[in-house]
Amino acid sequence: MAMRHIAIIGSGPAGYYTAEAAQKSFGDDVRVDIFDCLPVPYGLIRSGVAPDHQSIKGVSRRYEQVALTDNVRFVGNVTVGKDISIEELKGLYDAVVLATGAPKDRDLGIPGADLGNVFGSAAFVGWYNGHPQFAALDPDLSGRTAVVIGMGNVALDVARILSKTPQEFAGSDIVAHALDLLAASNIERVVLLGRRGPHQIMMTPKELGELGKLERASPHVHRGDLPPEGEDALLEPGLRKSVTLLRQFAAIPEDIRAEKPVAIEFAFFAQPVELQGSDGKVTGVVVEETEVVRGKAVSTGRRDVLPADLVVACIGYRSVPIPGVPFEEREGRFANDEGRIMPGLYCVGWARRGPSGTIGTNRPDGYSVVEKIAEDLASGALGHGDRKGRQGFDELAETRQLHVVTFRDWKKIEEAEEKAAREGAPREKFVDVAAMIRAKG
Ligand code: NAP
Repeated sequence: MAMRHIAIIGSGPAGYYTAEAAQKSFGDDVRVDIFDCLPVPYGLIRSGVAPDHQSIKGVSRRYEQVALTDNVRFVGNVTVGKDISIEELKGLYDAVVLATGAPKDRDLGIPGADLGNVFGSAAFVGWYNGHPQFAALDPDLSGRTAVVIGMGNVALDVARILSKTPQEFAGSDIVAHALDLLAASNIERVVLLGRRGPHQIMMTPKELGELGKLERASPHVHRGDLPPEGEDALLEPGLRKSVTLLRQFAAIPEDIRAEKPVAIEFAFFAQPVELQGSDGKVTGVVVEETEVVRGKAVSTGRRDVLPADLVVACIGYRSVPIPGVPFEEREGRFANDEGRIMPGLYCVGWARRGPSGTIGTNRPDGYSVVEKIAEDLASGALGHGDRKGRQGFDELAETRQLHVVTFRDWKKIEEAEEKAAREGAPREKFVDVAAMIRAKG
């Protein structure tokens, strides 16, 4: 069999699971190049997963095993769409797989969303995780109240990060600029805003449970918001566990709660409809009370204003469309049939499904897209194995004088980050691309 060439765009979980699947399926007959616009790999593992969730980040060791094999190569610091086009990649590789995730915030779409100190979660999470694009965000944490919109796991991450003491970040890889700003934060009230009710939260029990174990913050749930307990029996087991935790939070006696200076309040049945501001900066969130009718939030018409000095909208993400590649606007993902956009062009992970599921959900995704590639190879839909693959890319990179960062370069960057770590931390990340490039020598 002729050598087959696969280009994967994006070195996050979806990208590496796809590379692993290609290796298992094609063995020595495949060469896989994994492109990333950053000089550092692992995408969401590095820039999305919360810095105090190091055990989840540990999955990168598995990706490293894939990266260190001869037939898989990391091609960092190359931006597809700028340094090389999708069309060019399609000409060089038998299959091009978009594992580009969903890096953009879904629009809040309400008046005032562009006020100062209002951020989407991609930006805010990117800031505390040191993503070069967002490292300079510099949110103002001098006010008392933060409103976090959304009832998913990202909202939980943000609420928890805003509430922790510096000591609780021991062993995490939160970047120094965020740790310093959080240590000086005045925030004492974090409101989690949900447009529906406790039975519709998207929070998983392990993550929700962490709110009950914080040193200086305590979760507040109003008993009156909870449906009759008997109705919990109808929920799927994970959600039932989460709702049981909400019931436990609601049962915390007031005097115990008051012992902790930071309150994390759950505000259910509240749809944000406008952000108010003064001097260009947010001061409040206008919310409309809702009822849940057949699972949907329906407004009662009653309005209230919540004071807010900081707003973080954690309402989901969207992929970035690529000219010429069919895109489903509403779902924020590429139009595809089980990962196949068209023979030769595929998508995996959030680029395929939209922003849902855990890191592990990407594994079967990667394996199934490789099956599609194998089918298309077998049917002859991808031509006859005469593409140049990585050799062709290397020639083009030389002509264009691209500064490609290899996996070996990344290992040097990683070593420098580990050396710079504060006591007990795994690393201190470089937060700008130039510093990363300097560190590789
Ligand atoms: P998510 O789970 O889809 O939650 C989004 C939340 O935003 C929902 O509560 C949704 O409410 C709300 N929302 C959406 N549009 C809104 C609007 N216009 N106004 C008000 N509220 C709005 O998304 P996510 O939290 O970004 O998480 C993305 C994925 O990553 C999920 O699969 C999540 O589990 C995963 N993740 C996992 C972890 C972990 O395992 N530790 C950590 C972080 C993220 P409705 O339900 O009413 O639409």
